[in-house]
Amino acid sequence: MVVKADLHVHSSYSPDSMITPKDLVFYAKKRGLNAVAVTDHNQVEGALEIVKQTDFLVIPGIEVSSSDGHIVGLNVSEVIPRGLSADETVDLIHKAGGVAVACHPYALFKGSLKEHVSAKFDAIEAINARAFPFGRSNRKAEEAAKKLGLSRVGGTDAHYGPQIGSAYTVIDAELNVDAIAKAIVDGRCQPFGQAVPWVLNVQQQLQRLRRMVSKAAHSRSEGF
Ligand SMILES: [Zn+2]
Ligand SMILES: [Zn+2]
Repeated sequence: MVVKADLHVHSSYSPDSMITPKDLVFYAKKRGLNAVAVTDHNQVEGALEIVKQTDFLVIPGIEVSSSDGHIVGLNVSEVIPRGLSADETVDLIHKAGGVAVACHPYALFKGSLKEHVSAKFDAIEAINARAFPFGRSNRKAEEAAKKLGLSRVGGTDAHYGPQIGSAYTVIDAELNVDAIAKAIVDGRCQPFGQAVPWVLNVQQQLQRLRRMVSKAAHSRSEGF
């Protein structure tokens, strides 16, 4: 079957994301996706919690801050320590049974791998919907995937519900995590998608600000 999955989404367990489990499933279904990978920064707690809460297919994952740049591990249910080299991080992802993805490898302001992208990875995120500059950085990622003979995937890097599904991967696999992971490694997948519309990025920042203000008000009232 054909699976349509956003392979890069941050849940509210990432300090910089506002996507609750309920929002995640709601927007994923609305965008016609049948799977989403939850890839929080350096932790798997949110992914494992959401898997328990829904019948919707959630692929557990993590986005590791390696010393060489961000690396996504898909089908990973344990924390991969941050701060190691790209090489060591990819090894640990493989040891955990996961798929190592060089995410947004050439995007500016994102902790990108750049020259640390290698054939050791299973896949390259050839479309990241929030990469800047969108066209140039994703084109470079696409070229690197071709040169290294790696699979190409797409994901939004969503931190706000309505952004989910801006970029996604079409995968030729049965609808379960292991089959999807294997299909990605085998290259039976293709990325699609566009840049997140700027208006959604503005809304994201506004919601974040509102949340900060209400938190501050809350802690003030608790203080008295
Ligand atoms: Zn990142
Ligand atoms: Zn991310």
